Amino acid sequence: MRKLLPAKSCVVCDRTLKQIGGQRIVATQRVGIIVERKFGRQRKKGETILALSRPRGHYVRFWGKVIQELSFEAIAKPLTNDRHPWLCQQCAGVALCTKCGAPLTFAHGADVLDDNGKALHQMIVPASLPCSNPGCEDSRENAPAKDDE
Ligand SMILES: [Zn+2]
Ligand SMILES: [Zn+2]
Repeated sequence: MRKLLPAKSCVVCDRTLKQIGGQRIVATQRVGIIVERKFGRQRKKGETILALSRPRGHYVRFWGKVIQELSFEAIAKPLTNDRHPWLCQQCAGVALCTKCGAPLTFAHGADVLDDNGKALHQMIVPASLPCSNPGCEDSRENAPAKDDE
């Protein structure tokens, strides 16, 4: 199947990845939005499945309060341009910095969309991850260098 490239901005807050940092979320246990070529069985409790006229023959499945409160028009808008909708880490409520609330650089435990529209599952990592906010003390820029005593 031809991959849909990611939409320009988060389907919920309309911010770009550059503005917000972190990765593009397409699925977590609690919230998600996935475009498929075939009408699969319902997999998540309470999910909505819509048939799309564009891209033709595709279906969009979504679940979670933050997405289900959006209008169908808002959800379908990126799809009419053959773009895959996604959520930012803040709207999805995953992998956020405990110090400043900005997205961590790696959305561990979630399915994310890469720049080419490929969905990848990010492993849960036990280590603490750097924050995407350069002003935060947990950002990579501010991490102490190894030879720092
Ligand atoms: Zn957002
Ligand atoms: Zn932070």
